[in-house]
Amino acid sequence: MTPSSAPAGIPHPASKPDFMPRDELRELQSARLREVVQLAYQNVALYRDRMDVLGVKPSDIRTINDVVRLPMTVKTDLRDTYPFGMFAAPMAEVVRLHASSGTTGKPIVVAYTQSDLDVWQNVILRALAGYGLHQGDILQNAYGYGLFTGGLGLHYGAEALGATVIPISGGNTDRQIMVMKDFGVSAISCTPSYFLHLLDRAEEMGVDLRELPLRTGFFGAEPWTDAMRQRIEASAGIKAFDIYGLTEIIGPGVGAECQYQNGLHIFEDHFYPEIINPDTLEPLPDGREGELVFTTLTKRGMPMLRYRTRDITSIMTETCACGRTIRRIARISHRSDDMFIIRGVNVFPSQIETALMAAEGTLPHYQIVLTRQRDLDQIEVWVEVTSDVFSDRVGAMETLQSKLARQIERTIGIRAAVRLVEPHSITRSEGKAKRVIDKRELK
Ligand code: ADP
Ligand code: ZN
Repeated sequence: MTPSSAPAGIPHPASKPDFMPRDELRELQSARLREVVQLAYQNVALYRDRMDVLGVKPSDIRTINDVVRLPMTVKTDLRDTYPFGMFAAPMAEVVRLHASSGTTGKPIVVAYTQSDLDVWQNVILRALAGYGLHQGDILQNAYGYGLFTGGLGLHYGAEALGATVIPISGGNTDRQIMVMKDFGVSAISCTPSYFLHLLDRAEEMGVDLRELPLRTGFFGAEPWTDAMRQRIEASAGIKAFDIYGLTEIIGPGVGAECQYQNGLHIFEDHFYPEIINPDTLEPLPDGREGELVFTTLTKRGMPMLRYRTRDITSIMTETCACGRTIRRIARISHRSDDMFIIRGVNVFPSQIETALMAAEGTLPHYQIVLTRQRDLDQIEVWVEVTSDVFSDRVGAMETLQSKLARQIERTIGIRAAVRLVEPHSITRSEGKAKRVIDKRELK
């Protein structure tokens, strides 16, 4: 059977909250906030202690505007209470545990009650419907299944939408390509870096993704630039959407792009976003860039009050052409702990990515190596180039090299040593890519 096409312009019934009038939404948020604060105060010692210190009682929290009166939480709170200290539900009601991928140290554990899993399924369904997926789509879910939230997180929402899910998980790239081809896959989900790897391997195997039924991909769990998106869309012949989430809040599905691919709608009937100044912790108005903070409004297993994500973005002020009333955040270009400091200058890998992707002849695989020579920080940027460039006269290589060095210098203000390397020489990742290798001894 060929996929039935969804009636254009009629949103999926589950997407209704995406279009709720703003004042109704705020009322819903207020009611949910009151409940969650009550629950957190009663059942989680850490919240009770912190609210007591601030002199804030659950009854002081009346509307969603009062969220700013609540104490903040950070990742170390989860580590300090490891493994179950922040659970608000008794274990008998916890039906699932996940743990973070631990990009930045010891993993943290999160709990889901059945109603939390229902919320998760609901937001994923809304995300996928926003991408234009529908019943009849065949989704290859190449996010890792297991403790990582990606695989299972997407799984149930996609099934609830009516899509056919292939729970292939990450890795085993040759099999991924075979399945994609043989099963008529129309949508794929994984990290953007793993998709690039898939693309490479497909090319080597003589498979052109543009000739397959694949038409949609949604990628997340790590930052990727718009320049990277253009590369992906052109070489795979798909529309590539962004999906955002984090373990502490629920996993993937905290926010997602819509057809307009212009910022990610936050499912704010469940996850209330704020932007704060990360230094002063002051809340910032919509439109200003700062650290994204979330309060979960409906989670029962492990509610999070004002959780600091360390992700830097802004809440967009213009309404979206799609008609959704839930607000959008700008795509996340970096998290505050991604940043490295070189000769006193703060640099984010995404700045380098943009500079590299702007040039022709580069491939979307790069790595940043930091070293220290005679007390001076050095930055080396390794980037793969097409085999045409690589096998060309030395002249072409040199021209590209200095062009890239100039572009990087223009972006970050520091001269980097650019090293052009052969296709496939940079280690590929099956999950989140490791962009920066810091070999400096003193940190
Ligand atoms: P860890 O902190 O161990 O990496 P997660 O696996 O929960 O834990 O990763 C969540 C983080 O991944 C987010 O806080 C964010 O930094 C990053 N992330 C997730 N989705 C995106 C996305 N679409 N764009 C940029 N960064 C993302
Ligand atoms: Zn939209």
